[in-house]
Amino acid sequence: MSRIFGPVPSRRLGRSLGVDVVPYKTCTFDCVYCECGATSDLTCERREFFPLEEILDELRDSFAEIPTPPDVITLSGAGEPTLYSRLGELIDTIRRSTGIPVAVITNSSLLFMPEVREELGRADIVLPSLDAALAGPFSRMNRPHGSITLEKIMEGLGTFLDEYRGKVLFEILLIEGYNTDDEDLEALASFLGRHRVDSIQLNTAIRPGTEDGIVPLSRKRLEGICGSFGPRCEIVASAGVRGSHEEFASADRILSMIERRPCTAEDIHRALGVPIQGVVKLLGIMIEKGSVRSDVHDGETFYTASERNSG
Ligand code: SF4
Repeated sequence: MSRIFGPVPSRRLGRSLGVDVVPYKTCTFDCVYCECGATSDLTCERREFFPLEEILDELRDSFAEIPTPPDVITLSGAGEPTLYSRLGELIDTIRRSTGIPVAVITNSSLLFMPEVREELGRADIVLPSLDAALAGPFSRMNRPHGSITLEKIMEGLGTFLDEYRGKVLFEILLIEGYNTDDEDLEALASFLGRHRVDSIQLNTAIRPGTEDGIVPLSRKRLEGICGSFGPRCEIVASAGVRGSHEEFASADRILSMIERRPCTAEDIHRALGVPIQGVVKLLGIMIEKGSVRSDVHDGETFYTASERNSG
């Protein structure tokens, strides 16, 4: 299966060609709001999950097929991309061979490692996230690998932000009752007040996560909070889900496709460039919620938007 996705229109980056550098749900966190389901490999061990040369070959093949080069190449996926042990080499080679800026979406968890800061520093754009600057909400919300502490992350992230010269689009995901008390928000604002970022983007979990009871914030509430983060802050919540998979896995994009005609999971995977596991996971959630139904024809499972069938 190809690790290259898109290009897809990205709210934050333009036309983005995605490169998934870790296996599905290999992550340092197991966030309660993760749309891709529970983390199957909760790890801090950096590995060359796929041979670097193989990723570059797939990227070359993908460039041969797309008529217009993307605006940016984004290292991302349904997991934490800084777990890829040859990240720095990959960034350098992609930039050199394509001349296109490279972006990396990260949950910031491994920035306490000097080598990760150095490798990530080679990217043109970094999209780090931090949902909480207090230990309680951080552990409840992000459920990190046992060796990771918030203190380590904040120290590493702070050092990275102070040293990095590229563009930083910082993201905070807010869930009512998890990280929205005044003291939670003040701690985050105080951390960001001490470091350079180009923008602070507020998001909320508007789709089902791995746990029940995830309550998104209303637009009004987000607007109130946005003001307290200053002029660099903007709300991005209406555009979809967060973090590493937001550019690639979207229930809306799947729905708009199957509203027109019934499709198999493979059709959706090919057409939208969403990882097949992500497609299957999202379809499962959508069936549970009643927005999608499945029918078997000639041994193949087809998915249809429920409204289309009932309308
Ligand atoms: S939301 Fe991102 S950081 Fe959190 S578990 Fe999912 S992939 Fe990992």
